Amino acid sequence: SEDAAYLVSLIRSVPGFPKEGIIFRDFMPVLADPRGLDILLRALEAALPVPANSFDAVAGLESRGFLFGPSLAHHLGKGFIAIRKAGKLPPETIGESYDLEYGTASVEIETSAVKPGERVLIVDDLIATGGTAKAGADLIEKAGGAIAGFSFVMGLEGLDGLDKLGDVPTSTLISMP
Ligand code: 5GP
Repeated sequence: SEDAAYLVSLIRSVPGFPKEGIIFRDFMPVLADPRGLDILLRALEAALPVPANSFDAVAGLESRGFLFGPSLAHHLGKGFIAIRKAGKLPPETIGESYDLEYGTASVEIETSAVKPGERVLIVDDLIATGGTAKAGADLIEKAGGAIAGFSFVMGLEGLDGLDKLGDVPTSTLISMP
């Protein structure tokens, strides 16, 4: 549709960032554009992987999941849970480590961030290998929550990132080479 094409036109591709051989897909221009932001939020809601009444909260992955997750949550009448990078939160926290191409990374939440049995939709701007989203989901489960689904703005083709997320419903607005 015209809206989808407009959204795609706002995504900035930056070759060689953060290192050679990578094309960074930057969606900040979408957020900066009033029509782009409106289309994005409406499209995320229209493409929810599960009905809104089948989850209780939206959790966003730092940092870019924080940029639209709370707006989506608010519009759906839900609260927002921030899944942070390690070392940013005061105690008590629980964490989950995951493998990067070189080394490991960790995500954290406050121990009380998830209510027992709470059903959570996880959001992020982009899924590549799926490692970040998987770690976020494992963390929510470790904290006593259940994963209802995942919503991504962009997905990178050819990396099979969604396969890492198991049988949970997912939605990706824009597929990028
Ligand atoms: P994954 O763990 O799936 O390999 O990588 C996804 C994570 O890295 C997400 O949190 C995402 O924000 C970030 N990321 C990786 N590549 C890109 C990219 O090209 N553009 C943007 N905006 N984020 C990226």
